[in-house]
Amino acid sequence: MTKVIDCVAIGEELMKEIVKETEALKAKGITPGIATLLVGDDFGANMYRGQVEKFCEEAGFNYINENPAADVSEAEVIEIVKKLNANPTVSGILPLRPFPEQISDSAVINSIDVNKDIDCFHPFNMGKLAMGEVTFPPATPAAVIEILERYATEEGIDPKDFFEGAEIVVVGHSNIVGKPAAYLAVNRNATTSITHVFTSMKGNLAKHTTGADILIVAAGKADLIGPDLVKAGAIVIDVGINRVKVLDEKGEPVLNDKGKPKTKTVGDVSFDAVKDKTKAITPVPGGVGSVTNRMLMKNALKACKIANGLL
Ligand code: NAD
Repeated sequence: MTKVIDCVAIGEELMKEIVKETEALKAKGITPGIATLLVGDDFGANMYRGQVEKFCEEAGFNYINENPAADVSEAEVIEIVKKLNANPTVSGILPLRPFPEQISDSAVINSIDVNKDIDCFHPFNMGKLAMGEVTFPPATPAAVIEILERYATEEGIDPKDFFEGAEIVVVGHSNIVGKPAAYLAVNRNATTSITHVFTSMKGNLAKHTTGADILIVAAGKADLIGPDLVKAGAIVIDVGINRVKVLDEKGEPVLNDKGKPKTKTVGDVSFDAVKDKTKAITPVPGGVGSVTNRMLMKNALKACKIANGLL
């Protein structure tokens, strides 16, 4: 019987734990805080910023947003980062990309204090992640691991035994999801492979994915993973978020009141077709995304403790 993992419940559980820890820190006169850095007014980045602000409010964190105009210079943005580095009310700094083209991502990221780099963007923290000495596991891959660990525990399996020697295949090799997810898995002694668009182009994707006990998919391609790419009894974690048109039985787009095609959010896995072949699967929406921001907040709590000599 397939288990559809309730990631929303995991997110809520994590939030309760975060609120409890925050209250304990506040009792000591310490308040964790997150600063976002949004340059200009990119729609997606601003939506993400709003979510971070909401979660900070819920948890009782300090929250500030630095929002220079889109034509700001790189040097000015770096000055803002330096100011945030020196601000004791800011435990963690989250740069929200994309940046305008005159600003190099790496110049900004490299100027963040490594002890405030709560999404593990800085090469120092990425290096530590690769070496298995993780301070801040990046939020999205950390959410994947948290979901798997909680699933294992619920199934009565020690998470350590769950990962050791498990065949884990990651689809996607980006620096923010695919590669760090693979590092977190191999750090837990899973036998880990990374596949990507070039694996697909050579026609080799199924060869890898059908060997996976745990398949982690982060490609950003709706319906990339059908049942033919999944081993029977696998655990499938779908990180992908895609907006697609809603189609009727004839495959025609369904229109909304304004005569525009209706859209919906789906993952990279063809959920309905794949679900019954799996032992466990995460849905989209209501999947990994429900846990990601909470992992960021856990990292901010850790950064706050480090800054206050509590870790
Ligand atoms: P990205 O575009 O940086 O990387 C996509 C990766 O998928 C690349 O490594 C590419 O090689 C691979 N890929 C693309 N087409 C492929 C194919 N046909 N076969 C195999 N591999 C293929 O994207 P990203 O930032 O890593 O994000 C991946 C997905 O995860 C996106 O849908 C994104 O929206 C989603 N995401 C979700 C969360 C969350 O919290 N749930 C957080 C971040 C990203």
